[in-house]
Amino acid sequence: MGRKLKLGATLCAALLAGSAFGAQAAAPAGGAPAGPPRQPAPKQLQLVKDNIYRANNGNWWSLVVVTKDGIIIADPINPTHAAWLKNELATRFPGKPVKYVIYSHSHWDHIEGGAVFADTAQFVAQEGVLKNLDGRYPHMPGDMIDRNNDGQIELEDIMVPTNAHPGICGMSEAFFKGKDKDGDGKITPGDFYDRVPKPTITYSERMTLTLGGETLQLIFPGKNHADDGTVIYFPAEKVVYSTDFPADALVGQSMRSLPSACGAFDEHPMSEWIKSYKTIEALDFDILAQGHGAVMFKKQDVTEGREYFEYLRDQVSGAMSKGMSLDEMRRTLMLEPYKGWAFYERLRVMNIEAAYNNLRTYK
Ligand SMILES: [Zn+2]
Ligand SMILES: [Zn+2]
Repeated sequence: MGRKLKLGATLCAALLAGSAFGAQAAAPAGGAPAGPPRQPAPKQLQLVKDNIYRANNGNWWSLVVVTKDGIIIADPINPTHAAWLKNELATRFPGKPVKYVIYSHSHWDHIEGGAVFADTAQFVAQEGVLKNLDGRYPHMPGDMIDRNNDGQIELEDIMVPTNAHPGICGMSEAFFKGKDKDGDGKITPGDFYDRVPKPTITYSERMTLTLGGETLQLIFPGKNHADDGTVIYFPAEKVVYSTDFPADALVGQSMRSLPSACGAFDEHPMSEWIKSYKTIEALDFDILAQGHGAVMFKKQDVTEGREYFEYLRDQVSGAMSKGMSLDEMRRTLMLEPYKGWAFYERLRVMNIEAAYNNLRTYK
């Protein structure tokens, strides 16, 4: 699934985008697989509220906070996007340097552009980001795990999930080959992160960042899509920003979308996911801006996501306690209340399998 492949079917475009890496130019269908193909959204600086903006690269978004003493960014995405953004900010807000770059989590597709701002910015992240950038095999999205425990990223580590769930997990062979400069079928964690500035300001559970009268609370919600995620909370504006959780790369217009469920929910207990939802729900906010998604979301969207996880957990654990086999669960657990959600047909069985494996692994 190369990014140059122009697919007629919007579903494929959605799935390309949803595979989370590689296809940043593709716009997701947001649960409208039968619709006409869409062009990638043009780049824009979109107002979230007051002095808070989002800037997009397809369905990948950076956050921008403009204060009287400078600018704060979250998620520089990739070098091309970051260079565009730097230029755009210099034009729109002249004389305001970017003072801080926050990484929402360590996955390269959201932070690779950080170096563009290294001349003026300090880099801020949850402390787990340091470990994921230290040269060891990092936590990767899309079930891209170190299958033979050799610390290197092999084509197989990528293609096993890609072939099992095309367009949902893993990433394209073409993307891998683009990184594998010497063509030996292996890439190192450094191929992803050597040029990414490491955070110099880190925190464990919560920290407060202030600049030019603006206050941001950085909150580690628990493990979910990533193991080093930061939720950014603006108490004065009642705005929350986070990336890949709750809205994953499949989300476009609506959060009523089954989660991608790769790696049995990214190798993290469902209880941690539910705790993460609750951490966001406990904040007093009106607007949820996400690193993916064409629109702004609300607290109700977070609540519905948490309810989905609880429902799935209860359905599968209930079936397990009755001694039902996984095959029976695949056939009989219809997740009825969620029939109208995007990717229901495509991901219902995968979600059941992920929950089953998750609940067996994490007691
Ligand atoms: Zn991610
Ligand atoms: Zn993402």
